[in-house]
Amino acid sequence: MPTFDFDLFVIGGGSGGVRAARMAAQTGARVGLAEAADLGGTCVNVGCIPKKLYSYAAGYAEAFEESAGYGWTLKEPQFDWAHLKSQRAKEITRLNGIYASLLKNSGVTLVIGWAQLADAHTVEIGGKRHTARHLLVATGGTPFVPDIAGREHIVTSDAMFDLDPFPKRLLVVGGGYIACEFASIFNGLGSKVTQLHRRAHLLTGFDDDVRQFVANEMGKAGVDVRLNCDVTSVARNAHGHGLTVTLARGQQLEADTVLFATGRVPNTQGLGLEAAGVKLDERGAIAVDAHYRTSVPSIHAVGDVSTRVQLTPVALAEAMVVVDELFGKGKRRLDYEFIPTAVFTHPNIGTCGYSEIDARAKFGEVTVFSSEFKSLRHTLSGSTERTFMKLVVDKASDRVVGLHMVGADAGEVVQGFAVAMRAGATKAIFDSTVGIHPTAAEEFVTMREPMPG
Ligand SMILES: Cc1cc2nc3c(=O)[nH]c(=O)nc-3n(C[C@H](O)[C@H](O)[C@H](O)COP(=O)(O)OP(=O)(O)OC[C@H]3O[C@@H](n4cnc5c(N)ncnc54)[C@H](O)[C@@H]3O)c2cc1C
Repeated sequence: MPTFDFDLFVIGGGSGGVRAARMAAQTGARVGLAEAADLGGTCVNVGCIPKKLYSYAAGYAEAFEESAGYGWTLKEPQFDWAHLKSQRAKEITRLNGIYASLLKNSGVTLVIGWAQLADAHTVEIGGKRHTARHLLVATGGTPFVPDIAGREHIVTSDAMFDLDPFPKRLLVVGGGYIACEFASIFNGLGSKVTQLHRRAHLLTGFDDDVRQFVANEMGKAGVDVRLNCDVTSVARNAHGHGLTVTLARGQQLEADTVLFATGRVPNTQGLGLEAAGVKLDERGAIAVDAHYRTSVPSIHAVGDVSTRVQLTPVALAEAMVVVDELFGKGKRRLDYEFIPTAVFTHPNIGTCGYSEIDARAKFGEVTVFSSEFKSLRHTLSGSTERTFMKLVVDKASDRVVGLHMVGADAGEVVQGFAVAMRAGATKAIFDSTVGIHPTAAEEFVTMREPMPG
């Protein structure tokens, strides 16, 4: 039996890597982890957490305006961008520290530096080699920017949290959830935001009614959403202030900051994957089987570097499948059906299961229930924001296979319903559930009339 320095060595201290390392260590395994940047990875440093904090910050703008309808008189609110940035930075540093303690307290050996695979059992960091019985690649992803003229003038989501100065005019290129979230957030914080998307609708993959509804609500809130627009170049203006963006049809737009949120690519470069014999799939991600094993049996990969469901809870769940198989409860598979997700636009989107189109393709006949209304909160607030809810039901089994919401706290609402959907709840069970009154969520258990087929 060869001897190894570690039972498991993890490359990448983000969502998936940290979870795998500390849970494996808690079983008594000898575990090492390499991280080249700040612990916590994308989610903690430049993703979910700072984004949600900024989304809260943006929400106050609406709340201040709406409070007048409830009798409040406020002085003109002032927003201090530098203060928000420094508060965020403090909180992220605190979280980095928590991640470090979690690893330390579990007995994980943390190695700071860029790791490269040398062979099927060896990792090299700063010239030093570490061997392990199992290796786990959890290196995440990076924003993708198309090769257009003036690429050097644009920023990606990584830079948005520390922009200096605050962009009075922000141009967001992209129509995915990250683009929509930044458009909403900076609109709320006071930027004049234009969002350009090359397709006819935002948010490919989401339910069509949700896509249209949220684009309309974002527009009402002040985001200038322009569809079917392709950017061909970005140039710095002659006087040095601002950027000019040229569209395929020749039209030009000016902005202080241009964000390209045009997808993400897996972090597979410079990792020594070839040296170790690890193969990529047709999308450029590390190819894995249902148990996250790569083409090299001793090397696993989880999270954004290997899948297309790029969400923190998915990376965590995949990490647990690997740990259970290698060090604990045994082999099992993660079920990717009915993974709920939220988009922190203003208003939020919450969704679980299939869009109407996908449900029709998978189940055949479906019944659709939907409802659009002004929430009680906005009867006095003066806001024209509306809420949208939709259920997609498989006609044959009566199972609720799609649940979609656009409205305040949609993610909070949908998380609970996701449990019911995973348990196979039928529309009859939704109907027999007593609502909580007065809430927006009760609408999901009181929708009785299907949409005409
Ligand atoms: C703007 C934005 C918002 C998001 N919002 C959400 C959200 O609201 N909800 C949600 O669920 N998900 C969200 N995500 C996605 C989520 O952040 C990712 O799915 C998740 O972080 C993936 O985890 P991971 O472990 O695969 O990789 P990561 O968390 O990216 O971690 C990878 C780590 O590996 C390190 N690394 C890479 N190469 C090496 C190397 N060779 N040596 C050493 N270290 C290395 C990196 O520095 C990084 O720390 C968001 C992402 C972005 C960009």
